[in-house]
Amino acid sequence: MFFCFTFGFEQFKRKSRNQVYTCPHCSAQDVYLVKANDCFTFCFIPLIPCSGTKQLYECYTCGWVNVNQPPF
Ligand SMILES: [Zn+2]
Repeated sequence: MFFCFTFGFEQFKRKSRNQVYTCPHCSAQDVYLVKANDCFTFCFIPLIPCSGTKQLYECYTCGWVNVNQPPF
């Protein structure tokens, strides 16, 4: 029998669709508030959250990221 265990750290992001902002970088209306958690994963299952929830703003058009509150 052979078991393959994989473990590591992964960041999980939850995108909030409540509010959309305009990106100052590419001017697209595609910036969302994202809540990110770093988790310890085992066999791709998140087991232990390693840090508090981080809030950041991410543009899904150009990839621009900001941790500041709007207005940017
Ligand atoms: Zn952008």
